Amino acid sequence: MNSETKLPAGHKLEDRRGRPLKDLRISVMDRCNFRCPYCMPEDQYHRDFQFLHSDERLSFREISRVARLFVERGVTKLRLTGGEPLLRPGLVDLIGELSLIEGVEDLALTTNGILLAQHAAALKGAGLDRVTVSLDALDEATFRRMSGGRGTPERVLEGIDAAIEAGLDPVKVNTVVQRGINERGIYALLERFRHTGVVVRFIEYMDVGTLNKWNEKELVPSSELVERIAERWPIRPLEAGYRGEVAERWEFEDGAGEIGFISSVTQPFCGDCTRARLSSDGGLYTCLFAARGTDLRGPLRAGADDAELGQIIDRVWSNRADRYSELRAEGGREVRVEKIEMYYIGG
Ligand code: SAM
Ligand code: SF4
Ligand code: SF4
Repeated sequence: MNSETKLPAGHKLEDRRGRPLKDLRISVMDRCNFRCPYCMPEDQYHRDFQFLHSDERLSFREISRVARLFVERGVTKLRLTGGEPLLRPGLVDLIGELSLIEGVEDLALTTNGILLAQHAAALKGAGLDRVTVSLDALDEATFRRMSGGRGTPERVLEGIDAAIEAGLDPVKVNTVVQRGINERGIYALLERFRHTGVVVRFIEYMDVGTLNKWNEKELVPSSELVERIAERWPIRPLEAGYRGEVAERWEFEDGAGEIGFISSVTQPFCGDCTRARLSSDGGLYTCLFAARGTDLRGPLRAGADDAELGQIIDRVWSNRADRYSELRAEGGREVRVEKIEMYYIGG
């Protein structure tokens, strides 16, 4: 560690609610090859939509430098996301660079899985630890409804198989559940992954961004899913693995594996939220629902040294007070309508 960038001895970086900085989610690509209506609806992200130019995105060198500064401040988990991260050319090289940062204990990737089969082995070889693959349905028509008519479940399943084969471990599946759309497919998804070691995690449909026309009626609360699953297979809750774990973990009583529930709407977990987000163009965001971020690319490209960049990060995190999901749950008037889109800062 460069001594100039270290925090003073005994100083622990915490935000205004006493939350440490532990995870950094890096959006490496704002573009996506899907148009999931709950994230990047086609009518908004059409052919003429202006995504970033490649020189507007942080380079691998810039991302690695920023990541190292975060690790020096307590981050142990890095997750690459997007948009679709596997659309970023040369991603394997970035994984290689990040895996060399001393102090990174967990290097993960979230992907829609369409390009995973061809990259899984190289990603693992470069140092990726694990992968989370989004898969909303096994039924082709439902899948395409939720991907904006892109891709097929078979290709995603091939990607998952390739990830297992490559030794990425654990492989997790993320499923956003929308009432009346894919809720009936949850048994098929669980059936498919029981006894495989793959952990399926059901995500409550969230009001991220401003463009998905979020309607609470489409939300299926996790508590309802737990009940429905328990009608078919006995399940029991597990202890949280660590502070800040977003998924509530359950397991099949017959030993078939684990299931997760991410209940950001009905059971907000802001109190333990230790995550910062870096957008593709170098914006630092302290909440998934943030209205604005802090530009790191400007100082990076203007020649700021590590100490200067480190000070910006320290200042932003020390001032952080975000708890959007708790406020939403309380129905408070503070809930903002101005928000950044999820594809941009990464899920
Ligand atoms: N494209 C990659 C993927 O889909 O896995 C990575 C980025 S995506 C924004 C990350 C995760 O956010 C995905 O699992 C996706 O299902 C989830 N997501 C996107 N919009 C959401 C919403 N409105 N509510 C809940 N989860 C959402
Ligand atoms: Fe793309 Fe992922 Fe958003 Fe779907 S959820 S549109 S795959 S970024
Ligand atoms: Fe963290 Fe913001 Fe989500 Fe709360 S709403 S858990 S502070 S990202």
